[in-house]
Amino acid sequence: MSGGTLPGGWFDAGGQLHRDFDLAVLTGREEELLTQARHPRPAALVTEVLSRCVRRIGEVSPVPPEVIGDLLVADRLHLLLQLRRATFGDRVRAALVCPWPGCGERVSLEFSLADVPVEPRELPGRWHTMVLSDGREVVFRLPTGADQEDLAPLAGENEGAALTALLTRCVGRLGGDDDPDLAGLSSRARAEIEDRMRQVAPSVAQTMDARCPECGRAFTAPFDVQRFFLGELRTDGTRLYQEIHYLAYHYHWSETEIMAMTRDKRQRYIDVLADSIEALNDAG
Ligand SMILES: [Zn+2]
Repeated sequence: MSGGTLPGGWFDAGGQLHRDFDLAVLTGREEELLTQARHPRPAALVTEVLSRCVRRIGEVSPVPPEVIGDLLVADRLHLLLQLRRATFGDRVRAALVCPWPGCGERVSLEFSLADVPVEPRELPGRWHTMVLSDGREVVFRLPTGADQEDLAPLAGENEGAALTALLTRCVGRLGGDDDPDLAGLSSRARAEIEDRMRQVAPSVAQTMDARCPECGRAFTAPFDVQRFFLGELRTDGTRLYQEIHYLAYHYHWSETEIMAMTRDKRQRYIDVLADSIEALNDAG
């Protein structure tokens, strides 16, 4: 079990902030979930994995999937990064192409997840109030995982429509209107609301500072936390079941016991077995 503090935090219906968390490591069960799931929506998959591994947020324990879905986007990214660190460690190896003209070399770089910049925020509550330059008052909340989940299909088809839908979900009141129609909002007012949202929201950087070992120049590499996490975990299902079979065959452990192990632990037992089988062969 590991723990930490969310960059933003979750406000319950009574307005109380829940911010520190406990996290259990990923086991074979979550890997199985990811190999089986053919989820078109990564955000839904993230909600499922996090609701299995996040054991407590503030005074909320267990943490239901609805709360995980209601977490701010940055809080979910932070939990994913901490889950990865707790399960597989802090180091990440990435294969990149140097973007500098005249170089373009394929390089392999190592990152430390502890270096991913996180900007926490002391949030006043779930709702934020601002005044537009036209004098109207806007009350909004920040985007959550559930917003991403629900809008993913639309975002794939029409990004502009998805942004309007996101604003419609997040803006609770506009100029005294509790059910405002945001399709008619001027692009200026819209930009003002979006800017303010970015300013007040906690953030987890989705880029990494890198230096090309070939040409020595620095560049910024994109780092899509969600895609990285899901891609790394999507072990090929055949291998997972081969490992379970191998361990069950040699140690006589049940499937349930083996699935409760982390990938690293399975691998360590498999290595020990391989060594001892080799020693047996040498002796014979
Ligand atoms: Zn280079």
